[in-house]
Amino acid sequence: MKSSSYRGFYKLPLEERLRIISEFAELSDEESNILRNPDALPEEIADHMVENVIGRFTLPMGVGINFKINGKEYMIPMVTEEPSVIAAASNAAKMARDGGGFHASYTGSIMISQIQITDLTNPNYAAITIQEHKEEIIQMCNDKDPVLVKYGGGVVDVETRVLDTAVGKMLIVHLKVNTLDAMGANAVNTMAESVAPYLEEITGGRVYLRILSNLAVHRLARARVQVQKETLGEGVVDAILRAYAFAEVDPFRAATHNKGIMNGVVPVVLATGNDTRAIESGAHAYASITGTYKPLTVWEKDHDGNLVGTIELPMAVGLVGGATKIHPQAQVAVKMLGVKTSSELAMIIASVGLAQNLAALKVLATEGVQRGHMSLHARNLATTVGAKDDLLEQIVSIMIKEKNVRLEYAEELFNKLSTK
Ligand code: NAD
Repeated sequence: MKSSSYRGFYKLPLEERLRIISEFAELSDEESNILRNPDALPEEIADHMVENVIGRFTLPMGVGINFKINGKEYMIPMVTEEPSVIAAASNAAKMARDGGGFHASYTGSIMISQIQITDLTNPNYAAITIQEHKEEIIQMCNDKDPVLVKYGGGVVDVETRVLDTAVGKMLIVHLKVNTLDAMGANAVNTMAESVAPYLEEITGGRVYLRILSNLAVHRLARARVQVQKETLGEGVVDAILRAYAFAEVDPFRAATHNKGIMNGVVPVVLATGNDTRAIESGAHAYASITGTYKPLTVWEKDHDGNLVGTIELPMAVGLVGGATKIHPQAQVAVKMLGVKTSSELAMIIASVGLAQNLAALKVLATEGVQRGHMSLHARNLATTVGAKDDLLEQIVSIMIKEKNVRLEYAEELFNKLSTK
């Protein structure tokens, strides 16, 4: 059976890593070439994706290895500019394997589209009127997206809320839409716009905003993990629990705790062509849903003293629509994961977020982040000054040994050693 667990993957040359991934994910030669090709996104396509295009911007794509999620092996494409992230995720995934890997679930792909109705003297009365016409509203919305309905999606419910605001009371209608394998923003926005005149007609109010909410509380991805105390080492479970306890009560720490989670989440969202801002805003809004900003993960100790952790966050990602269907590398990234549904993708992303948090907490609670960061930083600096191969290794090791990791010193060493 194929496994995502690999020793020394990082030491292999790029071609060999790509060969392993291609074999693992059964990529064709054409697909593996797309992954490697910095011009994989053609200029003509880029020109149609956004406005005022002047070029294309590439970032490294790495692979998170060792992941076992719901019993299945995954090699995970991650696009990021930040060093250490992919290594840390892979490391945490390895630690998780002894406890059976990650177990993930998903609440379903229900998105909320909001419609703001103002100029009402009787918003509560209007809310009940809307509830009475629920079936017609659902029908009107569903008529706008027969494809979604054909696959089993569409509006599942209509909710109303009366808000007391600085400009008076307003009635907010929530269309709850099952968007299946689409992220759904365009789908639900179109529905909200189409039904707005009818809502004005039956309430006598005036509709302004018609847009989805990124606080996707009905589209939550969850994951859990158990890490054996022996795997972590003496005292590390308690050290991690101390670090978590700090984040639990302090928003200053929780912000960075959650940033660490997003270090894992965003690279997979980006690699698969999904909307990183939608996921970021959803995650942070969800972290504050109790009124206080909280960590998105929870860490505890089980009966046997092992570390157990969970994550829960909105995960509105899709496989159809958006950049996923346009960007050639995003399509290969999806193939690499072997996912057929947005729910599987969401569960993978939540698991990577949990892994990333585990890795960060372990390092922070024990040796501190700077040691690992410094060696990668030294490598970046040596590359920046133009060092390659043996010379690069030599410069990196001198800077680390002397604890002097600065650009000027890398330059000085490069000039000194390359002229020898
Ligand atoms: P889309 O409209 O391109 O594709 C969705 C459509 O695909 C559905 O409406 C359906 O008709 C069809 N479809 C075919 N097969 C399907 C299946 N199996 N499951 C579901 N639908 C299927 O894309 P979208 O997902 O509605 O919108 C995503 C885009 O909207 C992203 O690019 C996002 O960046 C952008 N966006 C985001 C926001 C926000 O987050 N606030 C706002 C506006 C736009």
